[in-house]
Amino acid sequence: MLLTRSELPRPSASARDKALRLLERALGPSKVLTAEEACERFAGDESEALGVRPDAVVLASSTDDIQAALGAAREANVPITPRAAGTGRTGGAVPMAGGIVLLTLGMNAIKEIDRREGIAVVEPGVILGSLHREVEAEGWFYPPDPNSLENCALGGNVAENAGGPRAFKYGVTRDYVLGMEALLVGGQRLRVGRRTLKGVTGYDVTALLVGSEGTLAVFSEITLQLIPKPEAVTTLLALFPSLSAAAACVGEMTGPARLLPRCIEMLDSLTLEAMRQAGNSIDRRAEAMLLIEVDGSEVACDAQAERVGAACDSAGAIEVLVAQEASQRDRLWAARREMSRAVRRLAKKKLSEDVVVPRQRIGELLERLRGISERERVRTLTYGHAGDGNLHCNFLWDTDDELPRVERAIEALFHAVIALGGTLSGEHGIGVLKAPYLPLEQSAALIDLQKDLKRVFDPQNLLNPGKIFPETSHRAC
Ligand SMILES: Cc1cc2nc3c(=O)[nH]c(=O)nc-3n(C[C@H](O)[C@H](O)[C@H](O)COP(=O)(O)OP(=O)(O)OC[C@H]3O[C@@H](n4cnc5c(N)ncnc54)[C@H](O)[C@@H]3O)c2cc1C
Repeated sequence: MLLTRSELPRPSASARDKALRLLERALGPSKVLTAEEACERFAGDESEALGVRPDAVVLASSTDDIQAALGAAREANVPITPRAAGTGRTGGAVPMAGGIVLLTLGMNAIKEIDRREGIAVVEPGVILGSLHREVEAEGWFYPPDPNSLENCALGGNVAENAGGPRAFKYGVTRDYVLGMEALLVGGQRLRVGRRTLKGVTGYDVTALLVGSEGTLAVFSEITLQLIPKPEAVTTLLALFPSLSAAAACVGEMTGPARLLPRCIEMLDSLTLEAMRQAGNSIDRRAEAMLLIEVDGSEVACDAQAERVGAACDSAGAIEVLVAQEASQRDRLWAARREMSRAVRRLAKKKLSEDVVVPRQRIGELLERLRGISERERVRTLTYGHAGDGNLHCNFLWDTDDELPRVERAIEALFHAVIALGGTLSGEHGIGVLKAPYLPLEQSAALIDLQKDLKRVFDPQNLLNPGKIFPETSHRAC
């Protein structure tokens, strides 16, 4: 059942005491929080997942600290949940059985930017926006750009295989991770992957760990590929009289017109209303907005911007604004990046489902969502990365008695997504909130194979139990 507290057993009092003794002996009291109010802050994240207050929070500042925490967890047989900045949307960093939270946000050094090879080596607590600024100052570019980029950290990005608006053209985090240092429960250190652009030695364990949602290993260092920074960028903002006109425009640009902007973001009418209420002046006639960005050489950028503008005009856009200066572009994006918070003000509770459908079927999905919303009497609004078919369908509610209807609506959305040939999560991961729905998309045989893999990495199921797979229980005593 969604949004209910986990029923995973908590570790016994003696196991907890043992873990605390081991942690304090290895790390000293300054790196181990145990006070209830201090630990309570780590029971949740930016989702509605209800966690269990951890018994201890380890403030790791080095690989040795991570190793000590993972060693203590195994020796005491208590669950341990890795955490970076806690901006996750599906409860990935939320402890479901108490135990230890292993915070890697304090490990925030950019250890190296290799200007000749185009490679960056970072610790897991580096905030993504800082990495962007550092590499761009050197003429390099790290494309993944979740809208939480000023708050989220690379460890979390890698564990969730984060995407973002630019994923449409440039791909997601996995496409840029060359290798890493990873530690298993117990503390064993592994060098995974490589530092070269190509390499096919052995199984691609790096690709497996990217997106493993903190359930297989803890990253202490990440090696990233950079690409040359595009010479020019142009942002276009197009307002449409209806959502269907905006969806048709996306279908036209990404299909028959074969345009490849670096991002196409779509916002529906309720989202625009939330932005108006947050102080943004947006033409009242607009029922949908596309925020489109093109990049490349100056000449290519101008030519693409012209074709994108023409596509918007012929799809019936009310108005198309073009911004080339960095400050104008930042103004357009600032509103988009703050939008999630603006939308949050519309209701006491909000769940954002980041589903993906083939781009030509976006219109159909939106139509089905409208039907679901009417049938279940649940407010919904949609925005997201329409360029790659990844939409954030948000469900809003105020009181607990609405919850059964919200849950029915979400399940109906997932069924619709699968029927349209889509997938349950484009970038937020499965975490705890989507775990009950995994069997809608994946066969029992595939789920069992993945559980077998998990057992190889973590036989006692101590690392982040309760995530991805429905109904798991850790075997802590
Ligand atoms: C306003 C807002 C906008 C967002 N927009 C986007 C978006 O556009 N695209 C997108 O992809 N996401 C988006 N997100 C979701 C979120 O920001 C991303 O999932 C992000 O990658 C999480 O990073 P974090 O540092 O907060 O990780 P956390 O939430 O702390 O952890 C996420 C997962 O990573 C694991 N983990 C953390 N550190 C480590 C480590 N060192 N080793 C192993 N595992 C680890 C945790 O166990 C957990 O499973 C958004 C969130 C918000 C609040």
